[in-house]
Amino acid sequence: MISRPLPVPTALTEGFWAAAREHQLVLQRCDECGRFRHYPQERCPECTSAAWRWIPASGRGFVYTYTRSDQPFHPAWADRTPYLVATVELEEGVRMVSDLPPEDTDRVQIGSRVEVFFDDLPGTGVTLPRFRLT
Ligand code: ZN
Repeated sequence: MISRPLPVPTALTEGFWAAAREHQLVLQRCDECGRFRHYPQERCPECTSAAWRWIPASGRGFVYTYTRSDQPFHPAWADRTPYLVATVELEEGVRMVSDLPPEDTDRVQIGSRVEVFFDDLPGTGVTLPRFRLT
């Protein structure tokens, strides 16, 4: 069996993954201008400040766009096709990429409301924040 690729936390991203293990979604927010950002970055793309902190996010948003994959792009997903990959825009204004559960395949639309849930991957110590339709 081929294992799925897993995130490798760094000093910059460890806070995100540690919060996920506690079933909390967090985002970086700039201390200077208040802008949220994702993916984690050392400096604010708006004002270049290096001062930031993790802030709990709402976990709510909508499907900005999505694609349906009928071909696995990694062997670990060979038995999961078709699957959906969505770009989700959160209420905080940032976008994240997530797969959507199989039960959402036939009802997803651009603009569909979504909420975060947490997928504890057995035996890995990794929890993935994922999204599903509400
Ligand atoms: Zn800023």
